[in-house]
Amino acid sequence: MNTPQLEHFLCSLQDLQARIEQIDPRSYDKTRNYLNGDVTWLSPFLTHGIISTRVLANSVLETHKPKSSYRFLFELGWREFFHRTWQIDGDDIFNDMRNAQANVRSEQMPECVVNANTDIHVIDSCIADLISRGLMHNHARMWLAAITCNMAGTHWQEPARWLHYHLLDGDLASNTLSWQWISGTFSHKQYVANQGNIDKYSRTTQQGSWLDIPYEAFEQFEPPQHLLKRCDVTFEQTLPGSPVTTFTGPVALRNTWHLDPHWRTDIKQHIVFIDSEWAERWPMSTKRWQFIEHWASLCNATLMHGTVKQLNAALENADVVRTEYPACQHWPGKAEERDWLYPMPTNTFNSFSQYFKQVKQHVGL
Ligand SMILES: Cc1cc2nc3c(=O)[nH]c(=O)nc-3n(C[C@H](O)[C@H](O)[C@H](O)COP(=O)(O)OP(=O)(O)OC[C@H]3O[C@@H](n4cnc5c(N)ncnc54)[C@H](O)[C@@H]3O)c2cc1C
Repeated sequence: MNTPQLEHFLCSLQDLQARIEQIDPRSYDKTRNYLNGDVTWLSPFLTHGIISTRVLANSVLETHKPKSSYRFLFELGWREFFHRTWQIDGDDIFNDMRNAQANVRSEQMPECVVNANTDIHVIDSCIADLISRGLMHNHARMWLAAITCNMAGTHWQEPARWLHYHLLDGDLASNTLSWQWISGTFSHKQYVANQGNIDKYSRTTQQGSWLDIPYEAFEQFEPPQHLLKRCDVTFEQTLPGSPVTTFTGPVALRNTWHLDPHWRTDIKQHIVFIDSEWAERWPMSTKRWQFIEHWASLCNATLMHGTVKQLNAALENADVVRTEYPACQHWPGKAEERDWLYPMPTNTFNSFSQYFKQVKQHVGL
């Protein structure tokens, strides 16, 4: 595996720009499903609104044709599909969306997942990497979610909260809806993978594991005992910044998902506000808060935390501008639209394919 360290993400805007220019959509297309594939590791920057999907796509399309960039533009579409779903369905995304989850045995995490001890070697090393670095490849996330929900019979909500806590790119729409997609509450069926699939895409050769079974065997699958042992998980966090203070005059009010240093540089006072009630609901690791502090400082923003009620009182006499984000609907100020790659579809959509069919021509696909 080649997951980068935290320092890779505490970089300058110039370094980030250079990485964007290096994206090779052809190599991405051929290799993205392999754990050592040519993926971008740009998702922490996208999740925190440091760069946008539109900026990424435009950069790739400057040097590559839409057709050879198809897979990359398609994956950016998944991110926007999840966020459009959040915009439309609001808090409903945090509960089973379409179907109730089948075969649930427990709402608690399997202890072997928390302790990186599932006996599937590559998954255990991906979990260890997640905990130490805050990153996990997409395919490893799929295997992890399949084992946790569809084999150990865990309801997806607690595992999603656990993964979101550890990830540097933990994104409420992408994470929540991906867990639901794997566990069949936002898709037609539960996703499973066997040892052969894991070996192929991780280029490993583990034999004789409890997952070394043909796909037909999943119909009668009985989980090994160690998958059924449960544990409670605690999420420790210390919010950075200071308690909310009063501001007057023009204020650019940012949330932690909007840390683009280029935004509204015409305004002198920039605040990054952390909603303490939201942060308690969706806690984040120390590494993640370090990442946020770094990018808030590159935005020359004051980092403050408190309740939204306190924020409203503190900005009562300020002229506030912010951007739209589903978690911040009750924040003060005039909301500007986020920077999207694809427009909102004109017709309703019930699946990613229905969504993408309506928007893909926007980038020449
Ligand atoms: C269980 C589970 C949980 C996930 N949780 C998150 C999360 O919290 N935050 C998050 O950003 N993504 C999440 N994903 C989607 C995907 O795993 C990550 O976006 C991807 O691994 C990020 O790595 P990258 O930047 O190298 O992606 P690349 O492959 O380089 O792709 C570029 C960008 O496209 C978008 N993208 C790529 N694949 C997907 C996908 N399958 N779904 C949605 N967007 C995609 C991301 O914004 C990504 O940064 C999750 C997937 C699963 C299965």
